[in-house]
Amino acid sequence: MQTDFLIIGQGIAGTCMAHALLQRGKTVQVIDLPAQNRSSVVAAGICNPITGKHFSLTWEAGKLFSTLVPFYESIGRVLGRQVFLPLPFYRNYHSIENQNQLSVRVASPDFAPFVEEPQGEPYKHWIDSPLGGWQTRQSGFVKVADLLKDYRAYLVAQDAFREARFTHEDLQVGKDKVIWQDIEAQKIIFCEGLQARQNPLFPDLAFTPNKGEWIKIRLQEPYTCPAILKQGVFFLPLGEGIYQVGATYDNTQTEPDNTPTEAGRQELLTQLREWLKVPFEVIDQQAGIRPATRTRRPSLQIHPTHPHIGLLNGLGSKGVSLAPFLALEMAEMILT
Ligand SMILES: Cc1cc2nc3c(=O)[nH]c(=O)nc-3n(C[C@H](O)[C@H](O)[C@H](O)COP(=O)(O)OP(=O)(O)OC[C@H]3O[C@@H](n4cnc5c(N)ncnc54)[C@H](O)[C@@H]3O)c2cc1C
Repeated sequence: MQTDFLIIGQGIAGTCMAHALLQRGKTVQVIDLPAQNRSSVVAAGICNPITGKHFSLTWEAGKLFSTLVPFYESIGRVLGRQVFLPLPFYRNYHSIENQNQLSVRVASPDFAPFVEEPQGEPYKHWIDSPLGGWQTRQSGFVKVADLLKDYRAYLVAQDAFREARFTHEDLQVGKDKVIWQDIEAQKIIFCEGLQARQNPLFPDLAFTPNKGEWIKIRLQEPYTCPAILKQGVFFLPLGEGIYQVGATYDNTQTEPDNTPTEAGRQELLTQLREWLKVPFEVIDQQAGIRPATRTRRPSLQIHPTHPHIGLLNGLGSKGVSLAPFLALEMAEMILT
């Protein structure tokens, strides 16, 4: 079988990479073994341009956020449904200084397009806001597990997906092609997430695996909050009174497992109970490992001696915002 591109991995990185190439008229074969996937499938899928108590603008926020909406819309057109669900991301001011700090930041032209103060008290049913609060524009979320499943079906329908474990020892690298099993491709792009630690072609990728957990809760009254709330934990409305609450961060283990823990559950519940005003029950809990790098930056590389081999990885805790922009960048780099 001949193809333009072999793509290894169908997490959010591999999915966006495949889409970027298909949109440019290239053929792809995506190789993935879903059972190994514990990052994208558990992602809450939130895209938020401003993070932290001190209002830090996400790396390359302007580029990421102007790319992601049209990119997910383009995926939505092939899947026949909306993929990116826009929603404000709201936080309380925690002090007067904090409020003043935001007024200063809003004066910056990079920052201003992403922030606003809500009118009235639209979230008072869920949270008290004695000092008021602020929310982001251009934020929202993607139901990542559904996206991966649907995009896989779309690839399968085009005979562009193979459920298999990719084995590096069986890869033959030629001057201007690669061969793996019966597939001959002009180029190959690795989107393996944390499993890139076994990739001999890119041995310098330095990961700091970061375990994350979330819980799903059901409110007694099935109201849907018109924003993602964040106060210690995020509170993401999934509809019909169901909310996802997360996430924990633990980068202290070199070989974390993806088992949910009682400690993770209690950490989330303690933070949530500090402010959520309405009764709820926990209905689910999941964990996964973020492919974070030591530099906390994504990695987009063309192999130094094989220009037909690329890598897209290191998406850390922001894969859903980063992947569209980086996939388009990689397509540009590897096709020129
Ligand atoms: C609890 C939690 C919450 C999160 N919430 C968010 C969020 O709200 N917003 C956000 O942007 N990000 C979030 N993230 C981070 C996000 O999940 C990651 O940034 C993203 O999933 C990384 O995607 P990836 O495609 O690089 O890796 P992965 O999702 O790990 O995908 C890699 C794929 O490659 C496959 N693969 C690798 N090697 C092989 C092989 N040899 N053969 C076959 N298949 C192979 C794997 O099976 C897998 O399917 C969260 C993460 C966690 C753990």
